[in-house]
Amino acid sequence: MKRYSAFAIAREAFRQHSGWQRAWASPEPRNHYDIVIVGAGGHGLATAYYLGKRFGLTNVAVIEKGWLGGGNTGRNTTIIRSNYLQDPSAALYEKSRALFETLSQDLNYNIMFSPRGVMMLAQTEHEKRGYLRTERANALQGVDTRFIQPSEVKRLVPIINIHGPRYPVLGALWQERAGTARHDAVAWGLARACSAMGMHVIEQCAVTGVESANGAVSAVNTTKGRITCGKLGIVVAGHSGALADMAGFRLPIESVALQALVSEPIKPCMDVVVMANTVHGYLSQSDKGEMVIGGGADGFNNYTQRGSWQHVEETVRALVETFPMISRLKMLRQWGGIVDMTGDRSPILSKTPLDNCFINCGWGTGGFKATPGSGWAMAELMARGHSPLTDAFSLNRFREGRFIDESVAAGVAH
Ligand SMILES: Cc1cc2nc3c(=O)[nH]c(=O)nc-3n(C[C@H](O)[C@H](O)[C@H](O)COP(=O)(O)OP(=O)(O)OC[C@H]3O[C@@H](n4cnc5c(N)ncnc54)[C@H](O)[C@@H]3O)c2cc1C
Repeated sequence: MKRYSAFAIAREAFRQHSGWQRAWASPEPRNHYDIVIVGAGGHGLATAYYLGKRFGLTNVAVIEKGWLGGGNTGRNTTIIRSNYLQDPSAALYEKSRALFETLSQDLNYNIMFSPRGVMMLAQTEHEKRGYLRTERANALQGVDTRFIQPSEVKRLVPIINIHGPRYPVLGALWQERAGTARHDAVAWGLARACSAMGMHVIEQCAVTGVESANGAVSAVNTTKGRITCGKLGIVVAGHSGALADMAGFRLPIESVALQALVSEPIKPCMDVVVMANTVHGYLSQSDKGEMVIGGGADGFNNYTQRGSWQHVEETVRALVETFPMISRLKMLRQWGGIVDMTGDRSPILSKTPLDNCFINCGWGTGGFKATPGSGWAMAELMARGHSPLTDAFSLNRFREGRFIDESVAAGVAH
């Protein structure tokens, strides 16, 4: 694989860009791989990437039923932060945030990481107390956050109305080193790196069945034929229940649609990310100028990967009090993704009842930020059978009542 560099761009400019290679190969599947990962979203690709990079395991296939990154990875609002409450979450999300800082250099692919800062508004006394508690927990965990006063919120976000009649801004939990990244680029960069290591990223190939022998996984059936494997990683977000069903076990997961929308592009007016969790909405401005607006999840289980009008109305209506100027914007497009929600709003990174079959799911409304950290930890779990970052997130916690309650940090916020 040729490296991308300023020199390469200059060279290609002189020869009409005829020398660029395809970023990743499109191979036909082999009959056998040591490891098969189902799902070429960010988490599946990151798992494969770190299997190769950290453990030298490259006889790996990542199998995707649609196109690469076409699931939630390409549909999210790209918020990256690590200000969670519980210690195991802070460790995992902070590892991920730190990996994001150097991911462009690691992958030799610009993922446009933008550490512009993320604030979570406190708009009720209850919420303020919650964020003050998180600030102190974060201090003990080594996660750099601080609670800021309304005047500082206004200084950082001039377009905000801090004197709303129903929900005035009482302050915010501010994480300066949090931010955003280009979601597609994360998937593309990881796929390119996996392909360069000799792994197979196979698109338009759905897994339709999982075979086992003597209690261990032995093969997957796909729309491109049967593939035997030594180990299987299931990393399919909202479709985790369906894959677990194929593998013969059940998951404590509910699949629901989560929606977002963007406005027409406007001049730069906001250079941080703001989440208003009391009113169920959050806002950032993309590099193209669009205001990226996210809302809450559907209140009922479904697999409809699309937006709906009542969500647009609910979300925009809620945000207009705090951001009056958005009432004058036109909506450019809306969409939805199928997210995988656990009861404690924390992910599952775990062995399963089927030997050599591992699962990575339950990221719900907030897994983009965890993409590299999740891959790092899942690769370790699959390669060594154990990872300090995943211990607390095993499936057993639901049986044993060891919940990792992140409903304040992750229930609505992303
Ligand atoms: C509107 C919206 C906004 C969000 N905003 C944020 C945010 O701001 N910050 C944040 O951190 N997170 C956010 N999220 C959540 C985040 O997008 C997800 O948690 C994360 O992208 C999950 O990544 P993944 O790789 O696990 O799943 P996905 O990207 O969904 O990848 C799973 C892949 O598995 C494939 N697949 C499914 N079944 C099969 C099969 N049978 N065979 C083969 N392949 C299969 C799918 O096609 C899909 O490509 C948001 C999500 C949505 C929908």
